[in-house]
Amino acid sequence: MIRLFVGLSLPEDVIRQLALLGGGIPGARWMGEEQLHLTLRFIGEVDGPTFDDIRLALSAVQSPAFDLTLAGMGHFGDGRKLRALWARVASAPLLTGLQERVESVLVRAGVPAETRKFTPHVTLARLRDAPVGRVTNFLVAHGLFSAGPFRVDEFHLFSSHPSSGGSVYDVEESYALD
Ligand code: ATP
Ligand code: MG
Repeated sequence: MIRLFVGLSLPEDVIRQLALLGGGIPGARWMGEEQLHLTLRFIGEVDGPTFDDIRLALSAVQSPAFDLTLAGMGHFGDGRKLRALWARVASAPLLTGLQERVESVLVRAGVPAETRKFTPHVTLARLRDAPVGRVTNFLVAHGLFSAGPFRVDEFHLFSSHPSSGGSVYDVEESYALD
């Protein structure tokens, strides 16, 4: 079995900007530079034949290249259980369009449909028992964060492998946008 997701990688300068934000919150596990990415669609564990089907299915996605901007911060979870801190992706209709096309070819390839709404984001840290006040301070301090615009002209099928420092992601296949 292999654990898969579809996503975007980020330019070096954006990665460096994001990596500079890390630190200062007890209970936060910050993503390393090589872990920063934007997930378009989490797939999960699949067997070999399904992996092949997914690889092939994604090559049928046709979508224009586009520009993305990161703007501000957000979080998953609430005051009782904060789960993740992330950089917000400014609204981009072509990104949403790409995500919808990816979703549709995956469903046609037999992957169960995603029911949750797509919230484009770049996870910066996983939180475990992080003090709410410290997280709030971070969100306020970096509320005006921005990076980009940068060009997105390809997307990737990634595999994800658990390791001691958090998951390691490998690009299994890349797909060019028009
Ligand atoms: P770890 O699980 O080791 O903390 P991770 O969550 O980054 O690391 P994966 O669980 O393999 O590694 O997830 C790969 C990508 O898919 C990440 O961007 C993650 O946020 C996202 N993801 C994981 N599970 C889901 C899910 N159920 N729904 C949406 N996105 C998910
Ligand atoms: Mg996970």
